[in-house]
Amino acid sequence: MSLPIVTLDQEERWDCQQCGYCCRGSLVALSQEDARRLRDQQWHQLPEYQQTRFLVPHRRAESGYRLAHRRDGTCVFLNEDGLCRIHAKFGLEAKPTICRTFPMQLVPHEKHTVLTYRRACPSAAADHGTQAKDLVSSVKQLVRDQRLKVEASVPPPLKSGEQRDWKTTRLVLQSVGTLLRDERFPPVRRLVHALQFASHLDAAKLRRLNDQQIAELAFTLAELMPEESRPFFDDRKPPKSISKIIFRLLAMSCARLHPLCRHQSTWATRFELARTSWNCLRGSGKIPGLGGAFPAAAIQELEEPLGLKSAGVYVPLSRLIETTSESLLYALAGRSGWPVTDSVRGLALLFPIGMWMLRWQSRQRDPTVDDMLNIVVALDRSQGYEQFSGAQQRFKLSILAFNGELERLVVWYAR
Ligand code: SF4
Repeated sequence: MSLPIVTLDQEERWDCQQCGYCCRGSLVALSQEDARRLRDQQWHQLPEYQQTRFLVPHRRAESGYRLAHRRDGTCVFLNEDGLCRIHAKFGLEAKPTICRTFPMQLVPHEKHTVLTYRRACPSAAADHGTQAKDLVSSVKQLVRDQRLKVEASVPPPLKSGEQRDWKTTRLVLQSVGTLLRDERFPPVRRLVHALQFASHLDAAKLRRLNDQQIAELAFTLAELMPEESRPFFDDRKPPKSISKIIFRLLAMSCARLHPLCRHQSTWATRFELARTSWNCLRGSGKIPGLGGAFPAAAIQELEEPLGLKSAGVYVPLSRLIETTSESLLYALAGRSGWPVTDSVRGLALLFPIGMWMLRWQSRQRDPTVDDMLNIVVALDRSQGYEQFSGAQQRFKLSILAFNGELERLVVWYAR
């Protein structure tokens, strides 16, 4: 039986502006039913698809396939007018389920599923349009029509090897949520508090505690974290060079997920990518413009203080973190099998990456809210993207988590 669908207490809005971003560079995983429907549509009979594969293997998909991309990263079904060929030829119902539902996302919890919007869509990132709660009945209908499985999720481990029941896990997640959405503090402080919470939870000997004691520990830690985190703001030490190298490479990979970044796989582009990675490693030299997404810049420029004059510029980024934490998308979807402590780190890392990209996008001028909206599109896309949710990413985060380096990155790029 499907779980009841609820929406967040925070208002979320979206209307499709037909920008076509979701048809560029997205990994559209197909269900068995999607793959069968596409094969039945006989695309290979059309001359333009006789030499073109429209399905490619994808191990995370139920069918084992996703929609193919053209060499520039656009969906193989995107036409010259920026519209979907499947929709034009067979109608909305004929499209793959993800294409029909994006940016709506269901996050199954224990006894209900949360309907939220993915901020990889610029309209959702800007909170423009229809409230999520007004779409609940049509989403229920879609779930019924498509026979989508919306089943209770398993609680994530609290830390590596520490699995508890839903009741205890929920209380720990609530403590993290309290820290991440504590309006007494600016976003940068909330993230450092949550990161310190994760470090203390990792250090605690949870095996010796029963469920009640763990819940009490989580509550007490959440109370103590603002004071515990103070040294990061008092000394504002820069992160170590190795942390900055790992960080720049991650930030560059994230920027490349922006829909306007073209992915031509030629020798010239591979060479340019290798040169950019080398420059990121040594922390100097140029980074090229990425399509219409980011201008060319010098890496050193991205280390300069931003001195943000308007707090409004932060809003799309803090909305991403707030809605992702309230829906528990960061811990229950995308980072499958990750413990809560690592998921908190994965979420917190979005903040310094976003601030680094803001320097890049708005170089030599004042940053605007539109710059940040554009950045949130790439940041949210990274959540659940294979490259950012696998074992390698967890390993990199564990290096950054050592000795508070992740906290230092958050504080350093917020300046
Ligand atoms: S990214 Fe959002 S606004 Fe743009 S086409 Fe897709 S759903 Fe519509």
